[in-house]
Amino acid sequence: MIGEWLRHAGAVTVLTGAGISTESGIPDFRGPQGVWTKDPKAAAMSTIGTYVADPEVRRRAWRSRRDHPAWGAEPNAGHRALVDLERAGRLRAIITQNIDGLHQKAGSDPGRVIEVHGTMLDAECLVCGLRTPMPEVLARVDLGEDDPPCLTCGGIQKSATISFGQTLKPEVFAAAERAARDCDVFLAVGSSLGVEPAAGLCLDAVNDGARLVIVNAQETPYDRLADAIVREPIGEVLPTLLSEAC
Ligand code: NAD
Repeated sequence: MIGEWLRHAGAVTVLTGAGISTESGIPDFRGPQGVWTKDPKAAAMSTIGTYVADPEVRRRAWRSRRDHPAWGAEPNAGHRALVDLERAGRLRAIITQNIDGLHQKAGSDPGRVIEVHGTMLDAECLVCGLRTPMPEVLARVDLGEDDPPCLTCGGIQKSATISFGQTLKPEVFAAAERAARDCDVFLAVGSSLGVEPAAGLCLDAVNDGARLVIVNAQETPYDRLADAIVREPIGEVLPTLLSEAC
């Protein structure tokens, strides 16, 4: 059934979440082994108000960025299956909530990857907006600056990710909405679909006539809208599912 839909789909848009990267060794937030499931206080580092107000939260955040498993992670079979879909000419876009850069590292065209929650591969000054490659900022952390300020204006820096309380970049989200509305199959992979407005892209896609297929181990608030739900591990099931489309 899903294979049939994918075979006949002119354009497939994929929304990915943290679950596609767990098999690369990067924990998700809300799964059974999730960072926030195990340590609810860790969410403070992802909330802009506490980040700006509390230097200790920032110090913890920089250490956490430095020690993040993404630096040593490699893409897995799930990421690679999406590269194959693109090479087969069937991928409209990958809208990712992930910040780990693994789609691009797998070989996905960066022009087709829409990072709605930003990227941890850069840092951004919250005052002047200067972007700096994250390794340059983390090198300063290693040299003893536990909360490195912007070298241009002295402002507070943060990873170029969207924290809770920050608004999404309008042009980036507009591109995501266009991709959701302009597809025959919308595939939501490895997301608890608990973060809006990203999760609401499922509704945009369905409202514009796409079939919604959810690949996720746990239930999501959008399950009732889905035409099909797959609960198996992404790295095993995505290559099989998508091979039928390629
Ligand atoms: P989430 O943690 O809320 O949900 C992940 C979902 O994936 C869970 O429901 C879990 O059951 C499922 N899952 C995990 N591994 C799976 C597997 N192998 N097979 C099938 N299902 C699997 O993640 P989210 O919805 O993306 O929202 C979390 C937010 O946190 C995002 O905005 C994202 O920016 C950020 N985040 C990113 C990363 C990353 O870049 N890799 C990691 C953690 C969190």
